[in-house]
This record gives sequence, structure tokens and C-alpha cells, in this order.
Amino acid sequence: MKAFQFVETQEPAQLREVKVPEPGPGQVLMKIGGAGACHSDLHIMEAPAHAPSPPLPFTLGHENAGWVEELGSGATGFAIGDPVLVYGPWGCGSCANCRIGMENYCQNPGQSMPGGLGADGGMANYMLVPSTRFLLPLGDLDPREAAPLTDAALTSYHAVKRSIQLLGPGSTAVVIGAGGLGQMAIQVLKALSAATTVIAVDTSVTKLETARHIGVDETVVSGADAVQRIRDITRGRGAALVLDMVGGRQTLEMAAQISRVLGHVTIVGLGGGALPVNFHSPAKECSVTSPYWGSIPELMDVICLAQAGRIKMLVEQFPLERASEAYHLLHDGKIQGRAVIIPNG
Ligand code: NAD
Ligand code: ZN
Ligand code: ZN
Repeated sequence: MKAFQFVETQEPAQLREVKVPEPGPGQVLMKIGGAGACHSDLHIMEAPAHAPSPPLPFTLGHENAGWVEELGSGATGFAIGDPVLVYGPWGCGSCANCRIGMENYCQNPGQSMPGGLGADGGMANYMLVPSTRFLLPLGDLDPREAAPLTDAALTSYHAVKRSIQLLGPGSTAVVIGAGGLGQMAIQVLKALSAATTVIAVDTSVTKLETARHIGVDETVVSGADAVQRIRDITRGRGAALVLDMVGGRQTLEMAAQISRVLGHVTIVGLGGGALPVNFHSPAKECSVTSPYWGSIPELMDVICLAQAGRIKMLVEQFPLERASEAYHLLHDGKIQGRAVIIPNG
């Protein structure tokens, strides 16, 4: 089969011929419907040569949905052809965090690397999933459209949900970076807390237009007067929740200045910046956190939101042969929502 693989740091990923894997005991072979291209892949591929990296090569794609193709011996609970979403952060399954479904914070990390982030991912015709524990039924959702639910939506859902108690009437949430994750965060905020005012901040005017289209209340162009605009919108109080989906120096400086007393600054983007912190800034008793992905029960919630039509990703489909182009467009900020690679036509 064909697989789009990360072969060497700072080199473009390559379409290569590889063997179709065979599912061992408890494992599942999936036929891929869609594999989302996440900005994290670019961070990993563009990292300096001396940065720690998983063993190469591996097939990209950590945001996967498809159909059960073959069950290894003892793998039960699913039938051939079932449409499924793959939970991405594969933990050990037996530590305390894994047992409550928070495999994203497995206490034995490294025991099994996530598919697309060390193990082979979904940018291939088939993908091996180590356990049915990581498969969630999609019902009537189309795997070609649903793939971004497992990262862009799950990561945003987890980041919003932990601050939901702050988002009552009169509150404001700011989403910095209205790309794949940001657009999901806006819809999750609207679905979970209709009372909060949601502001999108982006350098791209077209991304802000998309944000308007999916229900954001206010848009602010990222730049010199963004802080003042957000202060004005919040009548000087600041935002209860600032979600930074960029995580660069400039956006974190902004986040520090627009958060409210007792608010939350949540750093989701891996942009390599640092949050300036002293007694006066961010505002008093503001909490700062850096969540990673989300839990299996949260992914079940995300699927319910999608099935109810409350969240929908703007998907741009690319055949496997055009995966490289999709990443170029993502790098240049030219993907309006999420690029999803469709390996099986
Ligand atoms: P994306 O490229 O789809 O979106 C990024 C958006 O940020 C774009 O709309 C871009 O125009 C905007 N942007 C860039 N610089 C900006 C600035 N200075 N001010 C305002 N907006 C700016 O990327 P994505 O796939 O949504 O990923 C976003 C980030 O989240 C990446 O850093 C990615 O690695 C990270 N991520 C983190 C997790 C996690 O678990 N913490 C999970 C997935 C992705
Ligand atoms: Zn990702
Ligand atoms: Zn574990």
C-alpha cells in the first residue's frame, strides 16, 4: 500500500510503498476513510535536527477515522465494516489515568507511541490500531468528514470544558488562532455556553470571516491594537478564558494582558513562545495551563455534539498523492478549516 511518511527531520515527508500490516492478538486493521493534517505535524517535521524526535520513519496522520477491515484474534466488540473514530493518545490501559479514560496522561508514557506521532498513522490505505479500546463507533457520521473530531475537536473540547464554570452570563472567551482547532473551540464554546461572548483573534482576515460564519460574536485582527479592542469589548474586565491556539511569543504576551482576575489562560498551541508572568500580569489569581489532547469519555461527548449537528469541521479533502500539497497549504495558512487526506478514494 501507499503511505505518506515522515522520513527525515526538516525534509519533506514522502509517499512510499509499504506492507499492509497484519493485526496481531487484540489488534485491529482499519481501512482509512480520512486522516487530518494537524499543525503539530509541521512543528515536528520542522523541528531542529538536534530536537528529540520519535524513531523515523513513520506514517503521518494522528487524526483518523475509517472502517474496521480485520480483527486480530480475541479483538471483540466491533464487526468488519463498522465506521469508527480512532482515539489518538494510546496509553498503557492499566495505570490510574488510563483507567479513567485519560490515556492522554498515561503514567507509563512511551510504552506505546500514538499512531502518526511515532507509530504508523492514518495517511495510508490501512492502519494498525493496538486495541479496540481506542475505537469509537461513529454511527451515521462519515469517516471522511469525521476524522478531525479526534484531535481538533477533542483537544478544543477538553480545553473549554475544564473552564466551563467561568463561562456564565456576561463572561467572555477569547480564541487566539481560528484555524482547525480554533474553529472547533468556537463551536464548542457556543454549544456548551450560549451565554458567553466569544471573540476570535487571527492574523488572517479570511479566517476571521470563517469564524463569523460559524457563530463567533466578535473578531479582532491580531496586532498592535488587539489588546485594547478586547479590553473595550469586555468593558475593561478582561476575558474569563483565553485559549491560545498559537502559543507564540506575541500571542502569549497578548494572552497575559487580556485575561481577567480569577480567569484561565490555556495554552494549546505549540508555537514555542513563553508567557510573561509577574505579580501584576496576568491578572490576579489567573491560572495558566497547557492541556494535551483529551480523554476517551470526552471523545464520546464530541461524537454526540457532531451527531447533533452542534459542531462541524470545514473539511478540505485531498487524495494521498496530494498530501504533500496539503501540508504546504497548511504551512502557508491557506487551509480554511482542516485538510483531510482521503487515501481510499
Ligand atoms: P492551523 O494552522 O489550522 O491554525 C492556526 C491558526 O493560527 C491560523 O488560522 C493562523 O492564521 C493563526 N495564527 C498564526 N499566527 C497568529 C498570531 N500571531 N495571532 C493570531 N493568530 C495567528 O493549526 P491547528 O492545527 O489548528 O493547530 C493549532 C496549534 O495547536 C498548533 O500549534 C498545534 O501544534 C497545536 N495543537 C496542540 C494540541 C494539544 O494537545 N495541545 C493538539 C493539536 C494541535
Ligand atoms: Zn494534532
Ligand atoms: Zn497508562
